[in-house]
Amino acid sequence: MEPTENFFRSIIEASPFPVYMCMGPDKLIAIANDATLKAWGKDKSIIGKPFDEALPDLQGQPFSSLISEVYRTGETYHGNNAPAEFIINGKRQINYYKFTYQAVRNSRGKIVGVICFSTDVTEIEHARQAMEESRHTLYNMVRQAPVGICIINSDNLVIEVVNDSYLELVGRKRVEMENRGVWEAIPETAELYAPVMDNVIETGQPITAKEHKLLLVRNGVPEMVFIDFVYEPVKGFDGEISAIMVIAIDVTEKVFARRKIEEAEERARLAVEAAEIGTFDLDLVTEEILTSERFNIIFGVGRDAPRDLFLKALHPDDLELRNNAHKTALTTGKLFYEARIIWPNGSLRWIRAQGKVYYGSINKPLRILGTLLDITEFKHLQQQKDDFISVASHELKTPMTSIKASMQLLDRLIKVDPSSDKIPQFINRGNSSLNKMQQLVDSLLNVSKITAGQLALHKTHFLAAQMINECCDHVRLAGTHELELTGDTDLELYADRQRIDQVVVNFVNNAVKYAPDSNRIVINISKQDNMAKISVQDFGRGIPPENIPHLFERYYRVDTSGIQYSGLGLGLYISAEIIELHGGEMGVESEVDKGSTFWFTIPLN
Ligand code: ADP
Repeated sequence: MEPTENFFRSIIEASPFPVYMCMGPDKLIAIANDATLKAWGKDKSIIGKPFDEALPDLQGQPFSSLISEVYRTGETYHGNNAPAEFIINGKRQINYYKFTYQAVRNSRGKIVGVICFSTDVTEIEHARQAMEESRHTLYNMVRQAPVGICIINSDNLVIEVVNDSYLELVGRKRVEMENRGVWEAIPETAELYAPVMDNVIETGQPITAKEHKLLLVRNGVPEMVFIDFVYEPVKGFDGEISAIMVIAIDVTEKVFARRKIEEAEERARLAVEAAEIGTFDLDLVTEEILTSERFNIIFGVGRDAPRDLFLKALHPDDLELRNNAHKTALTTGKLFYEARIIWPNGSLRWIRAQGKVYYGSINKPLRILGTLLDITEFKHLQQQKDDFISVASHELKTPMTSIKASMQLLDRLIKVDPSSDKIPQFINRGNSSLNKMQQLVDSLLNVSKITAGQLALHKTHFLAAQMINECCDHVRLAGTHELELTGDTDLELYADRQRIDQVVVNFVNNAVKYAPDSNRIVINISKQDNMAKISVQDFGRGIPPENIPHLFERYYRVDTSGIQYSGLGLGLYISAEIIELHGGEMGVESEVDKGSTFWFTIPLN
């Protein structure tokens, strides 16, 4: 059965899409379904009327002539998102349509009318327009943004928009970037970032990077830069990714500045560590103190020692000095004091505290940042030096007084009795005092040579026994002590004879000086492996074990109380230096009240 015209009509009527048909050259409206009437804002009364008469609103719009054109030519016309303006309920309204005008022919093929199928795409069009608008706003924002922004089409990776900040960042001109493939525009970044970009397009997940190190060819010059950046996918109104927005900030200066600060801090920290400086941060408001590990070590306490422990550690006699220093600091802004502290184990140490006061808004002192040094060694040396100066002046004064006395007596004698047989005696006495002075001065000169590293050796071959015999005549002459030479008397040394002589004389003189009540001194020469060993043994008062480790220090003297035994405390120090220069060793074995054996070794060749 042939479908009837009525059947078609009912299908058209039921269609939710506007469908209408115009017949003849006057475009009489033969069919207009409900959807059409609704779109036009008309009722059924227009059916049978000519198109132009029924729809005066559409005058000046292309539809009427388009229908006529299809009627004339028979060619189907497709309209896309075409705006149509109607006055509905007195209000002007624009809707958008996707539509087709198609010729209707009779059984003989002659065109009798035009049928129109259409879809209302107003909503989609509005969405598209809004999209377009927001894209426009976005592009404007991009242009003015203070950070570098570049928008890249995700289909063909062509740069759609790029702002000045971005151009500046990558060191390119606008023409080198816009409408070009991104990796063609900045090829040096392709290797690293093309995979990143692909990943963002594929997954739709943004990617962020901080302080990315990158070599950029800026205006033709390669430069190492640090960049913070985001690759952000931009989605179209259909939810598909249409572009990638790259936001980038050049943080090179920030990175360098931070590195400089870090380096400076590291340097300061290393300096503080190397110098063994303790540091502290004293809060003057809360009285709390933050201290470094070294600070606590200097105080001889553990990590979390409370502040009053530091105060308690101060020597009671120095507490006032310390308090005054803190009081002064509040007005001068600078803290400085040296004080004694007592360690938990009872030993006495010296500290030097230095600091700077930091003030708040109304000149209120808020905190003191400072450093702490252990100056025990320094004080010790200072003390030794002070002692030494007094000993040295005393030592020099004794022979000087004696020379002066001899001179005065000689002066008088020559006047009264020029031929007196006492004259040579006084001259001798003066001479021996002068010798003593010369020895003292020599010692002092030796010490300054040693400290300046100028003590040079002149090595020769000589017999140890011969040198020993010759060097100690003065002891034999004095007759107070007996010298016994034992051991390998044929041993030949290769050394600075004068300096080794000096060491032996020093040992022997000490033996005489510190063992006045025994008259035996034993000197032994021996060969041990490749070393010559020479020892000087006395049977005197010996040395308490606790003093032994200090014997070879500069200015060290066991008995500094009285000037019972004269001396500068330099002899052993100089000897030890001479032996060390020879590549040998020096030492002592001693027992109180039994005597001491001082020895040294030097390599045989
Ligand atoms: P000085 O004799 O001028 O004091 P030294 O450096 O020669 O200086 O000696 C350092 C100290 O070592 C002396 O002050 C003395 O106390 C001690 N000493 C050195 N030799 C002996 C010794 N043979 N017996 C006891 N004590 C000694």
